Amino acid sequence: MKEKLDLVCPYTKEKIKYPVRGRYCRHFGCACLETIIAFHHLKRQWICPQCDSKVNEPYIDLFVYELLKDRTKSTTVYVEKDGNYEWA
Ligand SMILES: [Zn+2]
Repeated sequence: MKEKLDLVCPYTKEKIKYPVRGRYCRHFGCACLETIIAFHHLKRQWICPQCDSKVNEPYIDLFVYELLKDRTKSTTVYVEKDGNYEWA
């Protein structure tokens, strides 16, 4: 089972620099840290741009962060449960 991962911020549609999600987010995709900070300025709340729920304990996904350093152009990757991945 491969899971598709878009390395694009769901809000700005730009490539993510620092991939963040909330500790309790149920999705695999991340939002950009900068977007979450911008949302915080606007709404005075930590809101996940991906699922629109409150971001509890946001953290940078280091696995996704490493992926972002691996390729500079591609923004879609398929990740398997064991951590193997394949660029689209
Ligand atoms: Zn979320």
